[in-house]
Amino acid sequence: MRGDRDTHINKLICKLTGAEDATVVNNNAAAVMLMLNTLAPGLEVATSRGELVEIGGSFRMPDIMRSSGCVLREVGTTNRTHLHDYEQAIGSQTALVMKVHTSNFEVTGFTTKPSESDIAQLCKAHHIPFVIDLGSGSLLNMRKFGLPHEPTVGESLMSGADLVTFSGDKLLGGPQAGIIAGRADLIARIKKNPMKRALRVDKMRIAALSCVLELYTDEDRLCEQLPTLKYLLRSPKQLHELALRLQPLLQSVLPIATEVSVGQTQSQVGSGALPTNTIESVALSIGLNGAEKSRSLSAIETSFRQLPIPVIGRIHADRLWLDLRCLDDEDSFAKQLFHLPSLLTPAT
Ligand SMILES: *Cc1c(COP(=O)(O)O)cnc(C)c1O
Repeated sequence: MRGDRDTHINKLICKLTGAEDATVVNNNAAAVMLMLNTLAPGLEVATSRGELVEIGGSFRMPDIMRSSGCVLREVGTTNRTHLHDYEQAIGSQTALVMKVHTSNFEVTGFTTKPSESDIAQLCKAHHIPFVIDLGSGSLLNMRKFGLPHEPTVGESLMSGADLVTFSGDKLLGGPQAGIIAGRADLIARIKKNPMKRALRVDKMRIAALSCVLELYTDEDRLCEQLPTLKYLLRSPKQLHELALRLQPLLQSVLPIATEVSVGQTQSQVGSGALPTNTIESVALSIGLNGAEKSRSLSAIETSFRQLPIPVIGRIHADRLWLDLRCLDDEDSFAKQLFHLPSLLTPAT
């Protein structure tokens, strides 16, 4: 008999998250759809009005619920949702309660929401599953590394969620994939859904995800070898030293009216995690003296993009900023800078 393609990897996911069982599909959008379509077809899914997110593209929670064959039951208000709001929303047609991580925005001010464990208890009392779409989802406590906290898969399961879904290629730092982890009986039902095969991952990505998950079993190696984490953990001091090495080089290849300095900046984590948190970083910041400043600045930005290894900067406050956080290969960056003068004054 053929085993499931993802058996080995599921064991690893369980080990890293404390889940009873897990399964892997194409991406997290697919994970959410498959979960909803399996557990709540034709039935109601209760979700807070504060969590009806649009991720981008056409992934909008209300639309996803409809496409999965479910009826959205809105709970509470945009800024405040109480436990009793969930309680009132649960009825004979409710298949499950779903919490969605607000990955790319934050509601602040007069806000409240019940804890995950309170919602979990309520769901248990009503014999319905409580599921959480974590979006990014982390396998590590980011605080331990001095980074802002992002909810971890293990924490959500510990607090009583029956299933969680999360991406393989956001904070996790692996290939595009969607992971569903949690209660074994629910995972078994999900695996039997005919849609599962349509949404399954290919072997190459299973192999890549497996390597990344293996790295998570050894945190020291992980920080050195997983690019996502390696870049997130670079200290301002390291970045400052890098900037000081590169600044004179860059100054020497740019026109006289250009001034290159080492400046402080903030890196944004992005990828559906930590939407309002930034991390202190260091940039090479390029300014211009004289007339036609903004036109010349865009010309410099364009020339950086035209380098053999394109370099993407950001124009802000009349300067071009090159955040050094994700510069991986200092030598190649430095070696190609001699192309800049000819890109800036193209032969006509
Ligand atoms: C990013 C995200 C998704 C979609 O995940 P993909 O892996 O990009 O398909 C779904 N839900 C939330 C909350 C997200 O942040």
